[in-house]
Amino acid sequence: MDHYAVFGNPVKHSRSPWIHTQFAAQTGAELDYRAQEVAAEQFEQQVLAFFGRGGAGLNITVPFKEQAHDLAQVLSDAARVAGAVNTLYQDDDGRLVGDNTDGVGMLRDILQNGGVLRQRRILVVGAGGAVRGVLPNLLAEQPAELLILNRTADRASALADRFRDLGPVRGGGYDLLTNSPATAPFDWIINGTSVGLSGGLPPLPASVVAPHTWSYDMVYGPGQTAFQQWCVDNAAARALDGLGMLVEQAAEAFFLWRGVRPQTAPVIAALRQELAVG
Ligand code: NAP
Repeated sequence: MDHYAVFGNPVKHSRSPWIHTQFAAQTGAELDYRAQEVAAEQFEQQVLAFFGRGGAGLNITVPFKEQAHDLAQVLSDAARVAGAVNTLYQDDDGRLVGDNTDGVGMLRDILQNGGVLRQRRILVVGAGGAVRGVLPNLLAEQPAELLILNRTADRASALADRFRDLGPVRGGGYDLLTNSPATAPFDWIINGTSVGLSGGLPPLPASVVAPHTWSYDMVYGPGQTAFQQWCVDNAAARALDGLGMLVEQAAEAFFLWRGVRPQTAPVIAALRQELAVG
């Protein structure tokens, strides 16, 4: 029996144990996966103790992704560029390896839904850990333009500076929309803020949405999220939520740990049904 866990705080609502149990059943793996709430000051000690006991792999969620990045002895390119780690395991030499599967997870979900990012104008809202994790993957698709807006403008401009070598990215506060000619509707609007967790909306004008706009909300829930609903109300072509990203990033972690890629579509469908019935 191989042991896995997700470390976070809070973590009790995490769907990761459920998802990995589905992957295990699908691939015939014998594993145990738990959600473990960790006190901030004990994070490092608990990670080392977990692997010291022979643990096979960890997922890391809010608020420990940066700490996990600092703790890892070897970083994947994705983790290094993002400055955040959501997956930990040990290599053959016993070194702690940190990876970040959020970006590949979101991109895979977008592509599997038929989305196209190449030469598109993308608006990304939010500049926290999740946005930092997905920016390299978005820019690798070679969009025509990527604008990051955030309540704390400095965080968005710092992110844009950090990723400028990877593509045409700019960042700042929401006033950039009103103070620049770039108020034309975007091809994509990606919501990476946490405002939707309490049912709120990022402060965007309806003019950024048009009938050709696709949107992606990293948040998910039993029904449409408030942001999805807002996009649909403003006639967006498609409004995706983050449930596919959640399952895809988990599948990538499962692959890193076990060398087997589980099928995600049935798990996404089953999780959607689980959420709907509560
Ligand atoms: P984070 O690091 O705490 O960042 C939160 C972001 O939301 C910041 O940009 C923050 O702006 C902004 N924000 C919070 N409240 C706001 C408000 N009232 N008005 C405007 N902006 C507000 O969180 P994170 O880790 O990046 O996660 C962001 C979201 O993505 C969360 O909802 C998380 O659940 C979701 N997520 C989903 C997946 C998935 O697999 N589907 C994976 C990762 C994350 P400031 O910088 O101004 O504070």
